[in-house]
Amino acid sequence: MEFREFAAYADRIEDEPADLETVALVTELLSDGDGDLPVIARFVQGRIFPAWDSTTLDIGPNYLYEAIARAAGQNVTAADVESELAEVGEIGAVAASYEFGGQRGLAAFGSGDGDDSLTVGEVFAELDALAAISGDGSQGTKIDLLFGLLNRCEPIEARYLARLVLSEMRIGVGEGTVRDAIAEAFAVPVADVERALQVSNDYGLVARTAREGGTDGLADITLEIGRPVQAMLAQAGSVTDALEEWDEAAIEWKYDGARVQLHHDPDGIERDGGDTTTETTRVFSRNMEDVTAALPEVVEFAQERFDVPVILDGEVVAVNDDGDPLPFQQVLRRFRRKHDIEAAREDVTVRPSFFDCLHADGEDLLEDPLRRRHDRLANLLADGPQRSTLRISDDPEEIESIDAEALAAGHEGIMLKDPDSTYSPGRRGKNWLKRKPDVETLDLVVTGAEWGEGRRATFLGTFLLSARTGGGSYETLGKVATGITDETLADLTDLLEPHIRSEDGQTVEIEPAVVFEVGYEEIQSSPTYSSGYALRFPRFVGVREDLDVEDADSLERVEGLAERE
Ligand code: AMP
Repeated sequence: MEFREFAAYADRIEDEPADLETVALVTELLSDGDGDLPVIARFVQGRIFPAWDSTTLDIGPNYLYEAIARAAGQNVTAADVESELAEVGEIGAVAASYEFGGQRGLAAFGSGDGDDSLTVGEVFAELDALAAISGDGSQGTKIDLLFGLLNRCEPIEARYLARLVLSEMRIGVGEGTVRDAIAEAFAVPVADVERALQVSNDYGLVARTAREGGTDGLADITLEIGRPVQAMLAQAGSVTDALEEWDEAAIEWKYDGARVQLHHDPDGIERDGGDTTTETTRVFSRNMEDVTAALPEVVEFAQERFDVPVILDGEVVAVNDDGDPLPFQQVLRRFRRKHDIEAAREDVTVRPSFFDCLHADGEDLLEDPLRRRHDRLANLLADGPQRSTLRISDDPEEIESIDAEALAAGHEGIMLKDPDSTYSPGRRGKNWLKRKPDVETLDLVVTGAEWGEGRRATFLGTFLLSARTGGGSYETLGKVATGITDETLADLTDLLEPHIRSEDGQTVEIEPAVVFEVGYEEIQSSPTYSSGYALRFPRFVGVREDLDVEDADSLERVEGLAERE
């Protein structure tokens, strides 16, 4: 397709405010899209390369201003282009305001006497070549190349070329529009297009396959080692949300690091065109950026552990010499690093923790339930810090204790997942919940406790919590049992034992003396406790050594919070 024709379409699309009409125009554009269809499907979204491909042009706007100035003629400077931009506010309009084509410099294309028009494919080939230029003097070469392209542009082409180069297409065509237009143009179901896009992240490939292979062709698009998939995302949610939504929840530690997707093939990852390379491992970020070079530990780990092709989803965490997690900021010192990687590695060690398996030994698992995907992961990786433990439970107390365990191990908390859910790339759905942090905590007085059982028989365990009333009495509103390690229990027992007023079997009454800070998810009206309220999922945060019982939260405050909810 002539680039001029593409630009004319872009122009019509830009002028069309209605979504439906936009889809109709994009459909027409794709239907007209000859051999350049894959490029057209990307260009119309303002994308030069497929989403999974981390190639970039790697040029600043100044290169483009310089190239525009050169193509515009002797009297125009890059500074002129910039001030024009400041005035009109948009690079496409600036590029379209000049008359190009008169400057036959060394780098200008075409003979000057024949047809100088550009095709979409040529524009892509030039930009691709531009992206590959690196090293000394690359700036000049890149400007030359852009100048050559612009010099062959009519104003309408220059408008969209300039926008493409700066990733500012902005004609109102999003991913959904192109998805719908592919379905429409090649008469295939939208759901099939959607699935193929999720698996491949390649609008060009999907458009061409829909045209040439229809539904069957789309169904044949599978995961490929080396081509990243969009990461499945999580929403904030509570234990209540999870247990209301599903019969039981899968619970995992939430690692505080950076998301990684590992692609590994012990026989070497195939490159475009089918050539096998000696490269076995690639690691991608949450945004599908290639971060392999920055994370040699992950590469080494994969090479040691996996003897079949895999695609795994996980988190890379910075750890200290004991293997304990370090704050998130530390991992950022490593994550996108391009230089001095070995030196950085001396400073900060990273460790992957994988929690999902998208592909194992020739089998795509996206459509399998989490339980099965995790089983596959467990087959590949023995128990250990490099793999999440997935526990299934419908018991809030058990969930609470996993949360406590995660925090005690230095992690961020827990993730709650629907054990039967499939992997939905790029979606922030309800199937993965990151546990919502407590909105506020309460400072409550301990007025009772229970002796533990078995191993914990010499410790006070479950603690009864009360709020102060105006009249100086205490009304109960919950018990906190979980979220406390053995060591803490021993300390709490030492702290509270002197205040025991009376004992009845395992139950003890304690005089108001100690204040606990307690997190919770919700305050409910409830007949269970004397205050008339109950805390949902109370969690021990700490002892408020700095507070006297008179400073603890009042029942009035609890009522106020309950009303607000
Ligand atoms: P957030 O970044 O706060 O939206 O939380 C979601 C992120 O937590 C994911 O994108 C992962 O990077 C990270 N994460 C840590 N541990 C897990 C886990 N076990 N399952 C899923 N995501 C996790």
